[in-house]
Amino acid sequence: MEYKLTPAGLAALLDELVTSRRVFGPVRYAGKGRLAGTDLITYGPVKGLADVVWDARTTFSPKEVFFPVKESLFYFSDGEITESALKASEILETVVFLRACDLNAVTRLDKIFLENGPAADNYYARRRQHTHFVLMECQESFPGCFCVSMGTNRATGHQAALRPEGGYYLLQALAEPWLSLGERYGQPADVEPVWVQKNSLTVKVPDRVDTSLFQHELWREYSSRCIACGRCTLSCPTCSCFSVQDIFYRDNPERGERRRVWASCQIDGFTDMAGGHKVREDRGERMRFKVLHKIDDFRRRFGINMCVGCGRCEEVCPEYISFARCVNTLSQLMNGGAGA
Ligand code: SF4
Ligand code: SF4
Repeated sequence: MEYKLTPAGLAALLDELVTSRRVFGPVRYAGKGRLAGTDLITYGPVKGLADVVWDARTTFSPKEVFFPVKESLFYFSDGEITESALKASEILETVVFLRACDLNAVTRLDKIFLENGPAADNYYARRRQHTHFVLMECQESFPGCFCVSMGTNRATGHQAALRPEGGYYLLQALAEPWLSLGERYGQPADVEPVWVQKNSLTVKVPDRVDTSLFQHELWREYSSRCIACGRCTLSCPTCSCFSVQDIFYRDNPERGERRRVWASCQIDGFTDMAGGHKVREDRGERMRFKVLHKIDDFRRRFGINMCVGCGRCEEVCPEYISFARCVNTLSQLMNGGAGA
């Protein structure tokens, strides 16, 4: 069912929604941006319509709602182990407002955490099962997005789709509670979802990447330019790597907890092994690993590219390193060209 809502109608709808659910979406943190005097737009709790930012891409992705930056897995005390439990607030039904690329990114995370082994990752699954999505339709592309090239400009799996248009909000309700809420707060209307049809940036993913390119000089540029800050991976909606840490409490070292914490294949220490061996010390090799994982390895395993073309990694990189340009160069090289 489709509905048209006035701003007051959507505000009232959200006021009701937040009484029974956790709601997250793009919100503005004034003065918290990377540069002095700029705001940070990123995911945070939504208490009402005024909190939601409709006209900007978030710096970080929605993944931390159900894959926290830091998470306790279990506690140990005098030889006993107790699995961590979610707080009552964390098992409330959760609604996340997100865009088509990010909804496609959730399917990539689901594959890694739920389908990539003999058993699903319970810590991910227990949060994910309470998480539902509302699609924020993009009427036009943000700079640096290449979702059309990646086939992620359209999405499925959401409970509702919403866009501001002509002073109203247009709602496509596909499941509860949106069917009932739309009925209560909106007027029936003819609403077709809008999908971005064109980005200013086009990326050609090579059909295959020949192993001869592993030693190509193109990676050397990144050896000197990349500063291994890890911002690209932390902002990526599909990166899923984490490290595991054992924390021993100061007051009693027999007690503590095991945590997992987001990690990055771009930063120092990620591939350190017992005995001091480092698998990828060179930063160009790390870039190669990341890029080929996003557009080749993952596809061989799951049949889809991991990258969803959100453009965040390029936007946040302090060295202006372009993932899209790197992929296009690989395509040219695979087609016999000289690369960009
Ligand atoms: S690799 Fe870059 S463009 Fe692709 S999904 Fe990750 S952040 Fe977005
Ligand atoms: S954001 Fe840029 S400089 Fe930082 S690790 Fe990623 S590619 Fe390297």
